[in-house]
Amino acid sequence: MKLTQHFSLAELTNSTTAQRLGLDNTPASELVPRLVRTAEMLERIRAELGAPVTVTSGYRSPAVNRAVGGVTSSDHAQGHAADIVVPGFGNPYTVAKLLSQLMAPLGIGQLVLEGVKGKQWVHVSTRTPDKISNRVITITDAGAQLGIRALS
Ligand SMILES: [Zn+2]
Repeated sequence: MKLTQHFSLAELTNSTTAQRLGLDNTPASELVPRLVRTAEMLERIRAELGAPVTVTSGYRSPAVNRAVGGVTSSDHAQGHAADIVVPGFGNPYTVAKLLSQLMAPLGIGQLVLEGVKGKQWVHVSTRTPDKISNRVITITDAGAQLGIRALS
């Protein structure tokens, strides 16, 4: 099922953790409109960057979210968020740096550059966090910092 021109429900619900553990990662039907909004945000990002966006993690069912150690309130479990890489544009830092200047026009509510356990990706959510200081942050093994910071 296509959510938008370039993003499918299968892509936004694909989970290697779910496959490995045999967990169901099918979203409730009422979450599908949210996933469409998330895909629409990804389309705007794709158009802005001029390169295909790879979703490494989108929707996570409660069981999958627990298995990956995600917090209960995770935007992934609510269908709002996607973790992405855009190798055709640049590394995650370069992608996040540009997106951080285009939050409103691209409809990004939260932007997180993550560099954890040797992996790097960009988390984007349609939902704006309650704490405005959490809107644009960098998370590394050392913790969270305000803004987009270069990853070592
Ligand atoms: Zn994420």
